Amino acid sequence: MRGVHLNRVRKSYGSVTIIDQLDLAIEEGEFLVLLGPSGCGKSTLLNAIAGLEPLSGGSISIQGRDVTALEPDQRDIAMVFQSYALYPTLSVRRNIGFALKMRGTAKADIERKVGEVADLLQITHLLDRKPGQLSGGQQQRVAIGRALVREPSVFLFDEPLSNLDAKLRADMRIELKKLHERLGRTIIYVTHDQIEAMTMATRIVVMNQGRIQQCDRPEVVYGRPANRFVASFVGAPTMNFVEGRFGRAGDHLAVLTAEGVIPLPGLDVALGQAGQPVTLGFRPEHVALAEAEDVTTVTATPLMSEPTGPDMYVLMRFDPARTGVGVGPELTIRVPADAAIARHQPVPLRLDGRRISLFDPQTGQRMN
Ligand code: ADP
Ligand code: MG
Repeated sequence: MRGVHLNRVRKSYGSVTIIDQLDLAIEEGEFLVLLGPSGCGKSTLLNAIAGLEPLSGGSISIQGRDVTALEPDQRDIAMVFQSYALYPTLSVRRNIGFALKMRGTAKADIERKVGEVADLLQITHLLDRKPGQLSGGQQQRVAIGRALVREPSVFLFDEPLSNLDAKLRADMRIELKKLHERLGRTIIYVTHDQIEAMTMATRIVVMNQGRIQQCDRPEVVYGRPANRFVASFVGAPTMNFVEGRFGRAGDHLAVLTAEGVIPLPGLDVALGQAGQPVTLGFRPEHVALAEAEDVTTVTATPLMSEPTGPDMYVLMRFDPARTGVGVGPELTIRVPADAAIARHQPVPLRLDGRRISLFDPQTGQRMN
């Protein structure tokens, strides 16, 4: 059993249990992202894998070895934190080589390995500087270099890009992804940023309140969220939600709301009993402007538009009576930047029934 295996992991502080009975199997070579809101227990879980905190219950194995009782330096892992935690008085060269020196590696070998890592991270020209003479992005590279040089089986990253500005974060995402492809090592990466999770992960673990909500490939987490929490946490602008009951519009399944009917053309499965309560979820890009009104369309009134460059998000209000004001729930749709849309002029829309999500309003669990 290579990779990292968490078995019934529990972590409590006093009487407060943060993580309870958590099972997770991470395959060797995965880029696994732990994603969730602040305070949901991501760092607690990562620190448990690193061995920085003792478990309250359960066990952890790394590359087939039970490490539950082992110290961090015996676990074959290296960790990179949000705060770079560099030694301020040491040069970049000595910061990167520090762990090897502690291990008693020969001087010439340290020099060679530090050189290789610096080359990989493109910081060779910075080797003789002190951390205080580096930008935030450069310091983060040094922190990553310090982990790389140890050649562990597993890299643990805790929000490593949070201190960087948006442009640099986007660049570093690409670099980390390249690095992962090049090294082929297991990465476990904590973030609250769904874009980081979507762009880098081979699998995303969405967490809330210490529990795993969904664990799957990014496109599945995005396209088929397991429950209402995942659906609303992943995706920006967020998924639209409409409360209603199952019904029909012509030959199509539909959601009936207090204000009118929302047809779901393309959804061919027979789901739910007529009249059964349902929460309809659909993303802004799963609605299109329709040519004309018919039994497959729903009418909405544009309230406000938000251009993003290539396309535009339009905030609308459901408006089956075509009042130009709207009465029903608000929805956000994505349209081309040059779409002909005028404020307060009702337009027909068509939902793509094959891509919508249906949730049980009671439990929040996915139904389709
Ligand atoms: P995240 O990394 O997802 O933001 P954390 O794992 O840091 O969340 O924290 C999860 C929960 O555990 C929070 O409610 C936090 O207050 C609590 N917690 C973290 N560390 C301690 C500690 N040393 N003592 C008590 N509670 C803690
Ligand atoms: Mg944290």
